[in-house]
Amino acid sequence: MSAVNETLIRDVVAEVLGKLGGTATATTKTSPAPSPAPTPKSDSCGCGTKKATSAPALRGKFGVFATAEEACEAAQESFLQLKQKGIAARRKIEEIVKTLAEKNAEAWGKIEFDETKIGRLDHKIAKLQIIKLVPGVDWLRPDARSGDHGITLEEFTPFGVVGAITPSTHSIPTLSGNIVNICAAGNSVVFNAHPSAAKCAAIAVRAYNEAIYRETGIENIACIIEKPSLDSFNALCKNEFTRLLLVTGGPMVVKAAMQTGKRAICAGPGNPPVFVDDTCCPTRAAKAIISGAAFDNNLLCIGEKQVFVLENTADKLMQKLSENGAVKLNSSQVEKLTKAAFTITPGQGGGCAHAHTNKDFIGKDPSVLAQAAGVNIPSGTQLLFGETDAMHPFVQEEQMMPMIPIVRVKSVEEGIERSLQSEHNYKHTAIIHSHDITNITEMARVLDTTLFVKNGASATGLGLGGEGYLSFSIATPTGEGITNPRTFTRVRRCVMVDNLKIY
Ligand code: NAD
Repeated sequence: MSAVNETLIRDVVAEVLGKLGGTATATTKTSPAPSPAPTPKSDSCGCGTKKATSAPALRGKFGVFATAEEACEAAQESFLQLKQKGIAARRKIEEIVKTLAEKNAEAWGKIEFDETKIGRLDHKIAKLQIIKLVPGVDWLRPDARSGDHGITLEEFTPFGVVGAITPSTHSIPTLSGNIVNICAAGNSVVFNAHPSAAKCAAIAVRAYNEAIYRETGIENIACIIEKPSLDSFNALCKNEFTRLLLVTGGPMVVKAAMQTGKRAICAGPGNPPVFVDDTCCPTRAAKAIISGAAFDNNLLCIGEKQVFVLENTADKLMQKLSENGAVKLNSSQVEKLTKAAFTITPGQGGGCAHAHTNKDFIGKDPSVLAQAAGVNIPSGTQLLFGETDAMHPFVQEEQMMPMIPIVRVKSVEEGIERSLQSEHNYKHTAIIHSHDITNITEMARVLDTTLFVKNGASATGLGLGGEGYLSFSIATPTGEGITNPRTFTRVRRCVMVDNLKIY
């Protein structure tokens, strides 16, 4: 069928459906009602191989499904369609996701903020405006060898359906960046979002699919389970079409994914320490700590969570923090806040007491924390800080609050050792403020983290003010690092013997 005829037919069908009131609901101002998806054509070439089949139950959903089984089936069908439509369709998908994320940043940022009630609205919006920095199709370049025996290409090729788990801390940004990476590599994806951030995720998925369908004819390239649960997580992991898992979340989901038997790329938890020595610029260090730890009220896994500072620099650093918009809590205020923000469970059978973070304080504004600490702070305060000991819950827990504990240390060795202990071997992110190359090198070697930032805010490690590229999924325990399209590929070798060597 010619392109003109196809367009004409789509328009007519859309008009008829419009008159019947039967189109899928557009969820954003920028997403006009789409025309219905076509029933897949019979692609049989007579060889007997099973191709995409007609599945009316999967039509008109634009990626949003009640069950993992339906979502995986639709995603598998879309994967096969994408394979046929080639690199041009992958490029279109990348362009659509990046454009829509930016265009809808304010609306979607607000929807996510209203649903999750954590973080900061301005930063929820900012996280969607930067999806354009996520690498896409151009990232994939084949590896070539040429010699007396001909040429060999190693190509980065798709898996098929990727099952992806997204966190509550940045639902639409993670999902959007994941679609760019995963589809740039030629895969389709099914999401099981965090239940407390699933409605906003479904809104974005529907809008993306509507636009992708209009432009490419592929309807369900990014699918989502509308009401996610542990059962739907298990069903997604078990599904025969799910070839690979991408998990972005805390320790429990990483463990669960690794036990499924499927290959899992795990973007796990962090508790990033900052070490400040006496060779640094205290003003620069203070500004960087505020900018990193205050971002989205410290919800980011890479965000600065605790600071170890050499004794002779501690007062100077804290003065600079105060001068640049952070507010210091005294020791009784820190303890008051600690009682509200953590529940301490006594040790069982001689074991250590354990602190559990109170969810009511995660990602809340400094003013909410200050109220619990019994202190009034100026409006617009970015961050709270206070002195603690090294084993304090604010140091040891991944607390995700705009409150930074400051711990004085006597030596560089102690600072590095305490940083290592507080990072809990997550191998995620660590930061140093120092102009001493030996200290910097030693901390990098000892901490052995995926991201190591020198003299900047944590976000510089994701290409935001530092060199590099962006992803909201940093694969730490499984070692893939900052995910990119290549992370979601199979390497396949193609060998031409004795020919096509042209020199
Ligand atoms: P979370 O672990 O509570 O939830 C993450 C996802 O896992 C959600 O979709 C949730 O429904 C699911 N989940 C949780 N426990 C599960 C289980 N036992 N079985 C199956 N699914 C389960 O985390 P959160 O509060 O949404 O997000 C914050 C956490 O995620 C922090 O630990 C943070 O460091 C981490 N995180 C890591 C990265 C990274 O790139 N490494 C990025 C963002 C967040």
